[in-house]
Amino acid sequence: MSKPKRCGGLGFKDSKKYNLTMLTKLAWRMVTNPKEKWAQLLKALYFPNKDPLVDDISKSYSSWVWKSIQHGLKIVRQYYIWEIGDGRSAKDVLPVNKKLGTYIRDVNSTCPMCNKEEETSSHLLLNCEFAYVVWFGMSSALHHSKNNSKSLQQWIKSWFSNSNSLEATNPDLANTAACTLWQLWKFICDRVFQNKIYHPREVIQKIRSYIKDNITTRGTIRTITVRKKENWQRPPKHWIKINIDASMIYDFSKDGFALIIRDCTGGFLWATAFSKVARDVMQVEAMILLKALQWIKDRNLQRVIVEGDNVSVINGCNGNLVGIPWEDHSLILECQQILSDLSQCVVSCERRGRNHAADLLEKHARRSIRVQSWWESPPDIIREILNKEANISSPSSV
Ligand SMILES: [Zn+2]
Repeated sequence: MSKPKRCGGLGFKDSKKYNLTMLTKLAWRMVTNPKEKWAQLLKALYFPNKDPLVDDISKSYSSWVWKSIQHGLKIVRQYYIWEIGDGRSAKDVLPVNKKLGTYIRDVNSTCPMCNKEEETSSHLLLNCEFAYVVWFGMSSALHHSKNNSKSLQQWIKSWFSNSNSLEATNPDLANTAACTLWQLWKFICDRVFQNKIYHPREVIQKIRSYIKDNITTRGTIRTITVRKKENWQRPPKHWIKINIDASMIYDFSKDGFALIIRDCTGGFLWATAFSKVARDVMQVEAMILLKALQWIKDRNLQRVIVEGDNVSVINGCNGNLVGIPWEDHSLILECQQILSDLSQCVVSCERRGRNHAADLLEKHARRSIRVQSWWESPPDIIREILNKEANISSPSSV
């Protein structure tokens, strides 16, 4: 892991020091932001009536996560007083990565996940490619909510800030956000310290089941959609996005399929549309998703977001077969199989408003018996909407 990146390592100067840096940062955040959900969770589990800076809060039966945080806590205890004595407010100490460089020498400040940007908590947990894709897949509402905040701290504060905040209006969503943050951190630690590589889809799945097992107060959290009408979003830098749509008209027993591929500027790359006979709408949706995944696999593409609007099919593809008729299980399992072979590909669900172009093209496809494809220049029927979406979609934060 400490080898330079070009030699197959992760480019860390010293993984042990890096480890300690990360843990110290986490411990620091826990101490300075006790109202964060994950900090409250830790408090409830390990030190309900104690002060983590003063009291002994070690427990022999605690988890490795907590044991690890305690290593970081040791350093925080050493320097916490020093900071206050130095006449600074505790708040000024954040972000701590720069500070830690003065305590622990040879700290590499480059993000261990992407090796591109400077590693801050906001970058690592919100905007870095890996985190970005996980948030995207977890909930489009949270994805947009985080993009409206300048930093992680600001975002978390915004959950509780007023009567319109996440916590006040949608506690399930606030819980999802807290659990996602916490779990993301754990997966990042696994990647950094144990060199475990996770597929973002796997992470999303694990976070979902963690939430299901741990947050029981308000029942199961399902795929959460945005209430207000949202626009199409460009994929992150260096990513492409495939919008898929399919539907059927029973009277005509003919189904339309459409697939539109755009780059990170919203620029048109390729589209295809065709009609076919299928059993019902579920089968139609599963077929187009399979088609999109095969297309990605055949071209050996990486960094692809597939966006559809059928919740059951998308969830099925991500491992949850509830709501999928048995007749379509083999189709969905085939989707799962391909998806697990693709290294950076995420399938996510969007509201119909954002899938407008694919929706339009799919309706157009029903009128034709041929398979139609367009390269570089889009068909007239969606030209206007593509231009509009490219111009108004908010830029990606990666
Ligand atoms: Zn990064």
